Order: sequence, then structure tokens, then C-alpha cells
Amino acid sequence: MLVVDQKSLTPAVASPVRPALEGVVAYKAGMTLAEAARRAGRTDLSKLASNENLLGCSPKVADAVKAALASPEIYPHPFCETLPASIGLRLATHAGRIVVTPGSEALIDYLFRAVLHPGDSILLSAPTFPAYGIFGACAEASFIDVPRLESFDLDVEAFKLEAAKGPKLMVLCTPNNPTGNAMSGVDMAEILAVTPRSTVVFVDEAYREYHAAFDTLALLKAWGGTWVSGRTFSKAYGLAGLRVGYGICSSVVLVGYLDRIRPPFNVAAISQAAALAAWDDQEHLCRTVALTIAERGRVEAGLDAMAVQRTRSSANFVFLRSPAGAEATAMRLLQDGLIVRPTHVPGGWVRITIGRPADNDRLIAALPAALAL
Ligand SMILES: *Cc1c(COP(=O)(O)O)cnc(C)c1O
Repeated sequence: MLVVDQKSLTPAVASPVRPALEGVVAYKAGMTLAEAARRAGRTDLSKLASNENLLGCSPKVADAVKAALASPEIYPHPFCETLPASIGLRLATHAGRIVVTPGSEALIDYLFRAVLHPGDSILLSAPTFPAYGIFGACAEASFIDVPRLESFDLDVEAFKLEAAKGPKLMVLCTPNNPTGNAMSGVDMAEILAVTPRSTVVFVDEAYREYHAAFDTLALLKAWGGTWVSGRTFSKAYGLAGLRVGYGICSSVVLVGYLDRIRPPFNVAAISQAAALAAWDDQEHLCRTVALTIAERGRVEAGLDAMAVQRTRSSANFVFLRSPAGAEATAMRLLQDGLIVRPTHVPGGWVRITIGRPADNDRLIAALPAALAL
């Protein structure tokens, strides 16, 4: 049992912490399997709350991790050795422009800390991934939010008006979490065309493998300012537990600044090895992505048969409106062994990850009762 020292709960001195942190709420992750098991009183759970790839990572990862485990006493390679070269080769990008990080969350943190002064503005479009709000607030930035359309697509015209004013940083999350909406290449090109090159552009492509519809890097390069495309091994590559993300940056110089701000040995040796093995097994990636997209179609057909309002998702999850409300639906599904993600988006919107076929069967069977008023 955890014994709490009561004295440690009440600080003896005034908080030494920067006031900016008082307004920040720590990231609330999806329900863990242990918590769900306790609350639902069952262990046969489908974890559909965190957009992990339940089909699993490449079978080649296990051997790579085992090999890397042979010498845990040695520090990992500070620049992840061969990973940037392998990534660069496939993306036709100089390895020096690729930074590998412990999850792409860390990339967001490093970039924001590297470029934001207190009071700088971040242009984004809510509802979107909470990390921008958290790391932006920690860096004492201010936010310009261009709310999404009723469909949750980006309001491109309204966004262009704000982009043209030259915010310090602009975030484009596509496909967007939690709504699943993707931008088109034309949308992105139009936005970049009006964006001054003094703005830093961060394109979050955590779900890119599910929607590689256009060449983001070519558009960013043609625009010519300072930019980072953030990608991850956590979603389609199935390595969320090992924490590896990467950024493709506009210049080697920018990577050099990110190297100054990050801890030198931030990506564990086993994680580096796992990511390299996963990267080299594109066949496995393509297979699981194709199955997930097909399964998403099956879940969407189920939702449409129930006349449930949903977005057009280009990622490995669906985003739907529950007449019963988000929390009630999540609680009912939990009793059925399904962990999903209720959101605070007004109207009762719930995000549900596409799992293995059996998980999705369970979901489709449980949804009518879970969504009913
Ligand atoms: C999951 C996710 C990430 C971060 O994932 P990491 O595990 O830190 O790589 C970043 N952006 C979006 C939009 C995500 O959904």
C-alpha cells in the first residue's frame, strides 16, 4: 500500500514554480487496462481509447529488442545511430534534418521551448491534440484558435486570415486528433501561400500512415520557412509503449537547436532498436494499415446503419456523437468490456480506436444500447 506522508502534501514554503504552470492541467491519458478492469469488474477488455495499433508491431521487433537488451549497462546512441539515416533514405531527406525523440510529444515540447518567447502566439484549430495547449502554456505562449466547421473540417478561409497575420507558430494536425479530419494538399498549399516565412509551421502527422494523401514535405519545402513535420512510431507502427517519434525539419541548423534543448540520451537503446526494425518492415505496416482502414469502414457502416452522427475520419479511430452523452456512453461500453475515449467536445462526442476485428465486432454489437437515450 502507498503510504502518504501528510506533511509532504502541504508545502512549507511558497511555491517556487513559475506562475504560468498554475494554469496548466496535466495531460489526462486514456483509461489504463488496470483501472478499467477494476471499474468494470472484468479482464476481457478491448482498449479502444488511445489509438494504439492493436494488431501489434512487426514480429521483427522482438528479436531487435532482445539483441539490444544484451548490454543495458551501455548508454544509448545520443543521435539514435542509424535511425535518421534509414528514415532519411526512404523520405529522400538528409539524415541531418531528422530528429528522433521519445515520442512525438517530446518533439512538440522541444520545438515549442526552442522557438517560443513568453507572449508569442500559437495558431491552431480546436478541438485538437491537447499537447499543443499544454506545452504552449508552459512556454507562456498565447493561443489563436480558429474553431473547426460543424463537420470538424478545418475552416480554411478563416485559418488563412489568421495565418496571414504571422503568428509565431502555426500547428496543422492532419489527420486531426480527436476528430479524424484530414486536410487536402490544396488546403495546406493555400494556407502556406499566405503564411509569412517568419512563422514556424508544425505539421502533426501522427496518423500519416493512414492517410498519406499528399507530399507534405514537398509543400513545406516549397513554402521555404522554418518547419517541422512530426511523426511517430506510436500509432501505425504499434510501438506506443517504447516511445519513439521523429521530426523532419526544414534545416540541419534547426535540428542542432533541438539537440541543445533535449536530454542527450533521451531515446532508450531498446526503443531505437525496435523503431529501426519496425521501420524496416514496411510490409507489416502496410498490412496492418490496410486492415485497420477496412475495419474502420465496417465500424462506420455499423454507425451509419444506426444513423449516428460521425466525422469523416482518415485515421485509425472514429469520432461520433452519442445521443446519450459522451460520459454515459463510455461508462456503458466499459461495462461491456470496451474502453473508449469520451471528449468534452459539446454535443456528446466520443473517440473510439479501431481495434482487431474481434474488438470491432464487440463494439458494433454494444453500440446501439450504449448510444441510446
Ligand atoms: C498520439 C499523438 C501524438 C504523440 O504520440 P507519441 O506517442 O508521443 O509519439 C502526437 N500527435 C497526435 C495528434 C497524436 O494523436
